[in-house]
Amino acid sequence: MRVRFWGTRGSLAKPGRDTLQYGGNTACTEIRTDDGSLIVLDCGTGANDLGRQLLLEKLYRGHLLITHTHWDHIQGFPFFGPLFHHDGAWSVYAPAGLGTTLEETLSGQMRYEYFPVTLDQLGAQIDFHDLTEGEFNLGSVRVTARYLNHPAPTLGYRLEVGGATVVYASDHEPHSQHTHARTNLPVHREDIRHLEFLADADLVIHDAQYTAEEYLDKVGWGHTAMEVAVEFALAANVHRLALFHHDPFRDDDTLNGLVEMCREMVAARGGNLDVCGAAEGVSVDLPEGSAPRPRLEAGTDLQALVPTGLRPKVKTKVLIAVKDPALKRMLPFALRPEGFDIVNAADGKAAVEKTRKERPSLVLMEWDMPGLNGLEVCRALRDDEDDELIRVPVVLITERAEAGEISAAFEAGVTDYVSAPFTPQYIRSRVYAWIRRAWQGQTPKPTTDPG
Ligand SMILES: [Zn+2]
Ligand SMILES: [Zn+2]
Repeated sequence: MRVRFWGTRGSLAKPGRDTLQYGGNTACTEIRTDDGSLIVLDCGTGANDLGRQLLLEKLYRGHLLITHTHWDHIQGFPFFGPLFHHDGAWSVYAPAGLGTTLEETLSGQMRYEYFPVTLDQLGAQIDFHDLTEGEFNLGSVRVTARYLNHPAPTLGYRLEVGGATVVYASDHEPHSQHTHARTNLPVHREDIRHLEFLADADLVIHDAQYTAEEYLDKVGWGHTAMEVAVEFALAANVHRLALFHHDPFRDDDTLNGLVEMCREMVAARGGNLDVCGAAEGVSVDLPEGSAPRPRLEAGTDLQALVPTGLRPKVKTKVLIAVKDPALKRMLPFALRPEGFDIVNAADGKAAVEKTRKERPSLVLMEWDMPGLNGLEVCRALRDDEDDELIRVPVVLITERAEAGEISAAFEAGVTDYVSAPFTPQYIRSRVYAWIRRAWQGQTPKPTTDPG
C-alpha cells in the first residue's frame, strides 16, 4: 500500500514561501493498494494536483472517502480532473446528515453562483453514498468508519489491506480532558473507542492543528493538540504518526520545531513511535505482506451505508430537560433549524414520563435536575420493559464531573456526557452522531411527519 499526501493544511489553503516544505493545499491523501485499488481521502485543494497525476496515468476510476463537508475537505472536488472524464467512475462516500444528502451538499457548492459547471454536467459516472458508523469493503480494502468529534458530522476511516493498516482521523477533538490518575488513559468512553480505532495501525494520519498551549483557547473547535495526538498514538501502540491538518498560520520552520518536540516527547517516554509532519508530495509505503485479502466486490457488505428508510425529511424528536437559562435558549436554537422536533421536560420525573409518551430519538438533559437527576432518569429508562426505552440514547450535560462519577454514569447506562459550555455547532454535530448510531441496524422509527 502506498500513501501519498497531496494536501496537508487545515481550514484554509496557504500557498507561499513559508509553507513550501509541508505544502499549502488543504486535505487530500491518496491510497493505492498493491492490487491497484485507488482510494482518495478527502477532496481539499490538494485534489487538483492528484487529479492531474491520475489523468497522466489514465486512471479515471476510484473511491473518494470524505470525512465531512467543511470547505477544506471538499473545495478540490470541482477541480478534480477525473470527475470530468467520460471514462471516469467514482463512488463518493461521506457521513449522512439528517437534513440533506451528500449529493445535495456537494451540488450546493457547484451551483452556478459559485462555479461554472454543475454537478450533473460532470462527465464521469458518480455514485453517492451516505455513511454512518460501520464497516464495508472497497475492493481488497476493509474500511471501518467511525464518528469523530467535530462541529459537523464527521467520520474517520480505518483502512486495512493484507497486513497493512492506515487510519485517517482528521478534524477530531478529544471528547474530554479527563484521564485516570494512575494510568493517564482517557476516562470518556468515546476517547477509549478512539484508541481502539487507532490500535496497532502501521500509520495514523491524525489531526494535530494546535499545540497544547494553543488548544486552551480553541476548546470546542474540533481539533487535537499535537501532544495529545502523540499520547493517543503511544497508548494505541501505533507504529507511525503523521501530524496532519496543519494550522494555516504555521510556517515550515515552526512546524519542524514542533515535530522535533513531539519526537523528544516520545523519546522521553521510551516509546518507539515514529513521528513525522505530513508533507505534500511525500509518500509512505506500507508492506501489505502475505495475509489473506477479503475477496469481495467493491461496495458489498455496506453495513455503514445509511438505509434509504433513514433518509432525510424524517422529523426527529429530541427530549430536552435543562434548567440552566442559557442552555434553555441555546439548544432549541441549535437544533430546530436542522428540523429536529423539541420536546421539553421541566424536571427529571417529567423527562421519564415524556420519554415514555413522546418516544424521542434522544434524551439530552442536565446531570443535576430537580425531581430525578440524570443518572436516576437513565436507570428508570433502562429498567423499563419497553425495548425502545431501554435503548434510547441518554446524554448528560455537566459543567464538572469527577472520573469516578463518570464511570458510575456509564455503568448506569448513560450513553455519553458533554461538558458545558459548548457551541450550537458542537451539540448539533454530536446529536447527529448519537441518533445515527442508535438507529444503526434498526428499522426506521415511525415518524410524526412522513413528508
Ligand atoms: Zn478541516
Ligand atoms: Zn472541519
